[in-house]
Amino acid sequence: MSFDRFGRNIHYLRISLTDHCNLRCVYCMTENMTFRPNAELMQDDELLLFTRLFTELGFDKFRLTGGEPTVRANVVELVRGIAATPGVNSLSMTTNGVLLKKLAVPLKQAGLQRVNISLDTVNQQRFQEITRWGKFEQVWDGILAAESAGLTPVKLNAVVVRGFNDGDLAEMAKLTLHFPWQVRFIEMMPFAGQTDFQRSQIVSEAEILEMIGKECGHPALLNNGILDGEARLYRLPNAPGTLGFISSVTQPFCAGCTRARLTADGKLRLCLLKEKEVDLLTPLRSGASLSDLKEMISAGIWQKPWGHDLAKGEVAINRMMSEIGG
Ligand code: SAM
Ligand code: SF4
Repeated sequence: MSFDRFGRNIHYLRISLTDHCNLRCVYCMTENMTFRPNAELMQDDELLLFTRLFTELGFDKFRLTGGEPTVRANVVELVRGIAATPGVNSLSMTTNGVLLKKLAVPLKQAGLQRVNISLDTVNQQRFQEITRWGKFEQVWDGILAAESAGLTPVKLNAVVVRGFNDGDLAEMAKLTLHFPWQVRFIEMMPFAGQTDFQRSQIVSEAEILEMIGKECGHPALLNNGILDGEARLYRLPNAPGTLGFISSVTQPFCAGCTRARLTADGKLRLCLLKEKEVDLLTPLRSGASLSDLKEMISAGIWQKPWGHDLAKGEVAINRMMSEIGG
């Protein structure tokens, strides 16, 4: 098992398969984004090796993200390799859903268990404005494909951006009246390049609950408010699905954090919102032994920061969300 110096058991790794993406969401990237050359990213064999090392250190839960994980070449075979690694008990993906219509079945067959799909609005026009390049129908088809392939329970992630989708939140919530999905509202976090925009556009959980309550009836708090992963859950009256709130900025859940991240260029990132990283790919390519690499991982985990300091105005500016793996 891997513990940090605060006694937290860190066993959940989010791996960014690529920093590249086929959309350009306004809160995540600029439209003229440039990406790293593929040679700088972990190659398939390197990624599988790191997965094995992390499982040997007690990691059992893995999420594939990005950038957009489904645009990585050979993603199905890569998923198959990760799923087959002894010790990988949970394997999920966060995706924009654009390619899921085609990939849901092969990914499920390769061993992927679940997906979180980003959907910020059910308003087609607004969806295009937020994602810049996205087509709502493609993602909707992707969501249905994921459900019928058994990549369940389907969770939808909506980053709430004032002035863009804050008027559509009740419609998003209403999806849970018709589908057994979890619709999750995520507070926007400040990152490199977008900090001013993001900070000024945050909409708090209390405000969202009030908006939903006015249109759909008051959502009931579930599990006495105990977090399910990082989400606080609610249910609308008679809904088969649930609502989730991920309020990392206004109500941080750092005390219960069990996760670390592996960036697409092979750096162990200890906290999403702190710049501290341990380069693993350069030593691997320079011939470090596997036991040296495991020691670097363990030492990095031990030094994991307690949590973010957004309340003090501290923002990590060395990387964008899409590079780290959200
Ligand atoms: N491309 C995939 C997707 O969009 O689902 C995976 C990567 S994306 C960076 C992962 C999640 O981070 C998405 O749900 C996205 O909406 C969210 N995200 C991106 N920028 C964010 C920000 N500044 N604050 C909060 N969430 C953000
Ligand atoms: Fe791409 Fe996901 Fe960022 Fe949108 S949120 S630009 S889909 S990486």
